[in-house]
Amino acid sequence: MISTKTIEAIRDRVEIVAVISESVKLARKGRSFVGLCPFHQEKTPSFNVNADKGFFYCFGCKEKGNVFDFLMKVEGLTFPEAARRLADRAGIEIEETATDAERREADAARRAVDDLYAVNQLAAHWFERQLREHASARTAWDELRRRGLASSSGDPLEDVPPNVKDALQAFRIGYAPPTWDGLTHFLAQQGISPVTATKVGLIAPRKTGAGHYDWFRHRLLFAILDVQGRVIGFSGRILPDPETGDVDKQSPKYINSPESPIYQKGHSLFGLYQARQSIRKHDEAILVEGNFDVVSLHARGIDNVVAPLGTAFTALQAKLLRRYAPVVTLLFDGDLAGKKATREARETCRAGGLVAKVAVLSGAKDPDDFVRERGPEALTQAVRAARGILEHLIEDTLDETFVRGDAHERAARVHEAVKLIASEDDPTVRAMAQTYADGIAQRIGLPDAASFRLLKDTVTRALAEASREGAPRGQGSAAPREGQEAQNVVHPSGSGGPKNSPPITDISPWRARSRDQREEIGLSILGCFLDFPDLIDDPGCEEAIRELEGDAALAVAILSSSTSASAPPVPSSPAFPPTSPQKAGQKIGLDVLEILAHVPAAIHTFAAQRLASPRHEHREEARVELVSNAQKLKRLGLSRQKAQVVEALHRIERTGDPAAEDALLREMDRRAREKHGL
Ligand SMILES: [Zn+2]
Repeated sequence: MISTKTIEAIRDRVEIVAVISESVKLARKGRSFVGLCPFHQEKTPSFNVNADKGFFYCFGCKEKGNVFDFLMKVEGLTFPEAARRLADRAGIEIEETATDAERREADAARRAVDDLYAVNQLAAHWFERQLREHASARTAWDELRRRGLASSSGDPLEDVPPNVKDALQAFRIGYAPPTWDGLTHFLAQQGISPVTATKVGLIAPRKTGAGHYDWFRHRLLFAILDVQGRVIGFSGRILPDPETGDVDKQSPKYINSPESPIYQKGHSLFGLYQARQSIRKHDEAILVEGNFDVVSLHARGIDNVVAPLGTAFTALQAKLLRRYAPVVTLLFDGDLAGKKATREARETCRAGGLVAKVAVLSGAKDPDDFVRERGPEALTQAVRAARGILEHLIEDTLDETFVRGDAHERAARVHEAVKLIASEDDPTVRAMAQTYADGIAQRIGLPDAASFRLLKDTVTRALAEASREGAPRGQGSAAPREGQEAQNVVHPSGSGGPKNSPPITDISPWRARSRDQREEIGLSILGCFLDFPDLIDDPGCEEAIRELEGDAALAVAILSSSTSASAPPVPSSPAFPPTSPQKAGQKIGLDVLEILAHVPAAIHTFAAQRLASPRHEHREEARVELVSNAQKLKRLGLSRQKAQVVEALHRIERTGDPAAEDALLREMDRRAREKHGL
């Protein structure tokens, strides 16, 4: 168990905005930061991070929490793992509270995993060295030379542009020699247990007899890194025989490390570590098929490129990528396999919340060929010209071969195009796609008018059916529009309102309105307290607290009890800005989740939104609104009492009790005077 002291130190010292910024692009907005939510698909940002309170909240999917929760949710870590990660980055030594036995067990488990990374790291160095030193490595250099990544004569690294050198280094290009036990020997010399090396698939036990043999032999190696830059595996490309120059057709072109406790295929992307900053900067990633495409583009200065590591692009990979950018441009090979991969990627991108575009490279086989033949500028242009994936697929379906097909084939293709359009969730995109399809139909000059009409009619019918089936997915985000949340979010879901109250039949419309109004003002007051919790201790705000009732009063009481525990109060007046906002604020951040856990359900959403996205930037502004609202509440309260008295008076008139009537009239008079004395 990690000690409470350590947890508190992490909370105090780690800045939530810095941590979240590593996977979500955040922009400052008022006192909070906003970005696209990593937990649900959205196009307009509704994910709010409050640096002062160490708290995040999404207006769309309502995910919320502190910096620990964020890491746990985004990276699938346990609490201790998240705590360790944060402690590491803040340079905090972890203090444990556990029995010796527990600690030993936890240490051992952690060391076992650390050992796996360590042996891979050692192997990566060894492979890099083999590329420089081993005699057979010349075949590897030949392959690099063929791709313009090495000098054509003499020293392969002589006169190589710096970008190329950087790429070879960044991707940790290495060479596995043809011998059966070169790495096995080296690791043994280094005192690495064969069990550990077997676990990460660097070596394997011999089928006959004792001992182990190398998994990668005579291959050009790419290290596979995780997003933290740790080596989690390798990908080895086949090379021609050093003697004969023949390529073994029986062997797979690429061999990757087998899955291990630190490497699961389909979970990582080749090149993401090297590309992550550039992807963020461009707000866009380029997805290619092969490792060499990634390295080759990187070496030519196009460095927001990743590849799916030998598998089809998976939803997990899409989600991983989505943490860095909202848009991906597919730059697959022009062959049939590439076309198939593009088709399949549509659903994958959708599942991962990525907007997908498709770039087409004319006349070349793959991005590596293209960039070598035509240069990086041409490739960048092709990427810029990328079209939305739906348009691309329609174009692909209704291409020029359409015209040559027979009637049956044409009907099938039209059907296919219609299916593509109808399967689009977003009505705007769908409408655009339809127009686009019509345009193509016209451009390719469908030979008979009947086909064109058929296309139009079928699309129209499919669209009508789709809209009858109900609202398309992906539209229901509750994210407020810019500026909207600044106005009172008066009726958080399920709050107040006559519709949720027990039926009161004798309630007059005026009183119903008045109660709504009181609730509304109550929430405004609560909002100001949530923005600046230390206002609770401000003598000028006492009246507001007295006037509050119901859920808002309860919430302020909770806020009050949790802030009084966190002395000293936050010095947040604009004249005296807090010297260390993070630190001061996070003391309160400690309690944000605690507060939310106790806030009445009806105003839970309101409170979470307000905590994540404070409305007032300045304390004084909040104070002024608060005091004026307190006055309003008081006036409304008196009016309500008056209305009650009038009602009672009517009742008494009906029953006829002069003494009671007299007492009530005097009470009315007293209240009227109190009201005017405001
Ligand atoms: Zn969300």
